Amino acid sequence: MSYVKGLKCRECGREYPKEPIHVCEFCFGPLEVSYDYDELKNVISREAIQKREHNIWRYRELLPIDNPPSVGFHVGFTPLLKANNLARTLGVREIYIKNDSVCYPTLSFKDRVVSVALSKAKEFGFKTVACASTGNLANAVSALSSLGKLETYIFIPRDLEQAKIIGTSVYGANLIGINGNYDDVNRLCSEIAGKFGWGFVNINMRPYYAEGSKTFGFEIMEQLGWRVPKHIVIPMASGSLLTKIWKSIKEFERLGLVDRTETKIYGAQAKGCSPITTAVKNGWEIFKPVKPDTIAKSLAIGNPADGFYAMCVIRESGGFSEDATDKEIVEGMKLLAETEGIFTETAGGVTMAVTKKLINQGVIPRDESIVVSITGNGLKTQEPLVDRVAKPHLIQAKLEEFEELYNRIKS
Ligand SMILES: *Cc1c(COP(=O)(O)O)cnc(C)c1O
Ligand SMILES: [Zn+2]
Repeated sequence: MSYVKGLKCRECGREYPKEPIHVCEFCFGPLEVSYDYDELKNVISREAIQKREHNIWRYRELLPIDNPPSVGFHVGFTPLLKANNLARTLGVREIYIKNDSVCYPTLSFKDRVVSVALSKAKEFGFKTVACASTGNLANAVSALSSLGKLETYIFIPRDLEQAKIIGTSVYGANLIGINGNYDDVNRLCSEIAGKFGWGFVNINMRPYYAEGSKTFGFEIMEQLGWRVPKHIVIPMASGSLLTKIWKSIKEFERLGLVDRTETKIYGAQAKGCSPITTAVKNGWEIFKPVKPDTIAKSLAIGNPADGFYAMCVIRESGGFSEDATDKEIVEGMKLLAETEGIFTETAGGVTMAVTKKLINQGVIPRDESIVVSITGNGLKTQEPLVDRVAKPHLIQAKLEEFEELYNRIKS
């Protein structure tokens, strides 16, 4: 049983059937999945959800598939931890880490979106899937498509981190490195999608794919005991995750699963690629595309597809947006590792650094609940840390040498 009504244009409201399409034929607005919330009210409850397995499909009525899912049975339900050490360090009362650096199977929140996209691609009968990626999407599509027995073509900027490249090739995907940045890759992929008729996860499958990000928000609310936090800090690449966490809150409120709360949404970008943050800070109506130059490669999208809608959510919620330099990103990664024992990637460093900035600026108050969205794993982005963390102490295998070293360390 599916509660999906169809697709709807975000701009003009025109409705479309459930097909692999992503833009409105009349106004070129993006299409979004719409649901029958009146029907849903009768079938969805906290109790029903709580009885189900701990994965993204426990919210299946709010995901856009018509048949049972075919991939992603272990994806999602990552830890939400109360970060007491971090709270002490930052001088705040209540702060939580939603930790998708341990999302199964490829250690980023992209496993969520890809599980939905590939389950839907199989429903549509696609035999070949593809994507344009800044790294984590490549990992998730290649891992999950091998489970789904789909042929896979993955397009990336050629200068990605080693672990993101190997963590794609190992699954046997066809990996194509492009001489250019993500925006160049994406432009090429739009042309390929038009010509080859594949299921492009972030192009013609985008309306379905993006819905998977709502599960990040659903889980935060359920794990807080069916409560909405007052403040949520979210990293932005295309801006999709941020808009979908907002949608997840609006849906749970509408269905009576949580009480209405004034939640403020904050965006986080790297200073070397901050088109959305710059527009929010300057009060611009639209953002200006940029050429990315940052160590946070997974967030390096200079012309973000959902940037405009991310700005709308940030403004409507009463939140704000900030950015972090490369140095601050590394400090953010270290801060989370040293306080909470979590090794996040550069994108997580951006989110941590921005959270700290917004607290110190007094934008986020110190006495209200804060959730920090940690979306990827540090083992995948080691390059920027090589010269920025301590090297091992080197000694011979002799007790005297260790004793001498120990005295040096303790003094
Ligand atoms: C893709 C990605 C994001 C942001 O995704 P958007 O939905 O495109 O804004 C955030 N963090 C990590 C680690 C990512 O890989
Ligand atoms: Zn339209």
